[in-house]
Amino acid sequence: MELTTSTIKNIIATLRRTQPNEIDCGECFDRLDQFAEMTLERKSAEEALPLVQLHLDGCRDCREEFEALLDMLWCIGGHEQIPFGFAM
Ligand SMILES: [Zn+2]
Repeated sequence: MELTTSTIKNIIATLRRTQPNEIDCGECFDRLDQFAEMTLERKSAEEALPLVQLHLDGCRDCREEFEALLDMLWCIGGHEQIPFGFAM
């Protein structure tokens, strides 16, 4: 393997990742409903789906999607408003 600048950049990018199995937006979205349901049930969604949490921490688009989903699920559940702040 030749060590070009882009190869080095790739290696650095890989090393910087805290999680080896980082997911992309598609995978995050696939698990988002599960994650939101667990959050509403106050289960430890973060522990069960740490990669989703990780992605939400770093991806504003998905986080907005997640918050909208949370709102929706909460309303469907017959509640009027989010009881706790999701200022993540
Ligand atoms: Zn995303």
